[in-house]
Amino acid sequence: MPVTFRNEPLTPFAGEAEKEAFRAALGRVRASLGASYAPVVGGRKVETGRRTPSVNPAEIGQIVGNVHQADAALAEQAVQAAAIAYEGWRQTTPGARARCLYKAAAILRRRKHEFSAWMVFESGKTWAEADADTAEAIDFMEFYGREAERLAERQPLTHIDGEDNELAYIPLGVGIVIPPWNFPLAILAGMTTAAIVCGNTVVVKPATPAQVIAARFCELLEEAGVPAGVVNYLPGPGAEIGDYLVDHPLTRFVSFTGSREIGLRINERAAKHQPGQRWIKRVVAEMGGKDAIVVDADSNLDAAAAAIAASAFGFAGQKCSACSRAIVLADVYEDVLGKVAALTRGLKLGAPVEADTDVGPVIDDKAYAKIRDYIDIGRGEGRLIAGGGTGDPGGYYLQPTIFADVARDSRLAQEEIFGPVLAFLKASTFDEALAIANETDYGLTGAVFSRSRARLEQARAEFHAGNLYLNRKCTGALVGVHPFGGFNLSGTDSKAGGRDYLLLFSQAKVVSEKL
Ligand code: GLU
Repeated sequence: MPVTFRNEPLTPFAGEAEKEAFRAALGRVRASLGASYAPVVGGRKVETGRRTPSVNPAEIGQIVGNVHQADAALAEQAVQAAAIAYEGWRQTTPGARARCLYKAAAILRRRKHEFSAWMVFESGKTWAEADADTAEAIDFMEFYGREAERLAERQPLTHIDGEDNELAYIPLGVGIVIPPWNFPLAILAGMTTAAIVCGNTVVVKPATPAQVIAARFCELLEEAGVPAGVVNYLPGPGAEIGDYLVDHPLTRFVSFTGSREIGLRINERAAKHQPGQRWIKRVVAEMGGKDAIVVDADSNLDAAAAAIAASAFGFAGQKCSACSRAIVLADVYEDVLGKVAALTRGLKLGAPVEADTDVGPVIDDKAYAKIRDYIDIGRGEGRLIAGGGTGDPGGYYLQPTIFADVARDSRLAQEEIFGPVLAFLKASTFDEALAIANETDYGLTGAVFSRSRARLEQARAEFHAGNLYLNRKCTGALVGVHPFGGFNLSGTDSKAGGRDYLLLFSQAKVVSEKL
């Protein structure tokens, strides 16, 4: 058993040598841009001839890679390949499977900057955001490896005389993994390896804007010794292969992170029994948020403002944990608004390849158009305090934007924007602030700033969020430290990076022998 789990340290990018090392990785990745990638089914690369470019959101003309796209016929082959591989993989020991994860983590640690650099180019992540993403991917693998070994230990059961009883966790079967583009390495790695370390085999359908990083990660798993067919990489248009994979009678579970619309669609389709299907499909879904930071009148206003700005605009607000609502007590409302506005105006919007960029582009043309629509809606629903405009037209750049005096039932206060747009709402009492915080369809993250013990306790009890933070920002959950996942329409209440996560991909078998 390896040593206790510890989170991978983040790179501070403080000294010149450290920056140079990252610049060198950016240079190496730049030299490899434009290569071709293809689905991998049963260990075989399948060039379909139908290639789609993955473009750099910061420089729209730059092609990060060209990716052969799968169709429904190849999706069928991928599910079959996973089903064949399952027969062997399910019989390997949890220890052997965990060792593949530790090996993959070790390789990724050695090639950390390289993977982070791919995210700078394909996802528009700043250095720090990309580095944190890679560190989290390492964490997931180290953590789930240990978790699989823990679950393989003899599980405690009540003893009765004359019988030997044993409970073991066994895998489910073939799973479909549909990760998001916003943590293109961490969440992809977490969802995929959690499923396989339990003995399942999977078809991974990467998010379209993150197909190259996903290809590189699947290659890494192969290098780490994951056998052919255990992870099948299947890039392709969601409309063509998504439903097919979810509906397939051999599909045993679907693990999804993404929009509420798609998550609900998957849940509905997976619930329908298909001819030949021998189980009820399990759906594990993480679907978004409309997260709030509440600021009490007695709190440390500078700390609150810094947390709001960091949570709202880190990775251009493209996190389901992002703060999109600041709910501030009337007495300190203008103060906090002024402080957050000043911090926001100081953020450098620019190319993520530059070391000092704070906010990069949004992911693609659709996101760019949608967020701009919300900014227009905001002009009608609130008072524009900062931002509102675009940046360099060569990329999908949007200024970090703040609207004040937004009404609690307005679209800006209720709908997930998934971009750098923050709404300020005024509350006259702390009770009202919590009520506003709770009145969306979601319940993912939230934070409260207060110096009052009674109010912090009240928030603990009443703020309905899967991840509630007190006197700190509401993004940046750490594996093992802050098991992550939300309530209501934020998902299926599952906790990635937590001790109950692997149970979602396992089933318990009890054997009782009369002595
Ligand atoms: N776990 C991330 C965080 O705590 C957010 C994940 C997501 O956006 O899906 O910031």
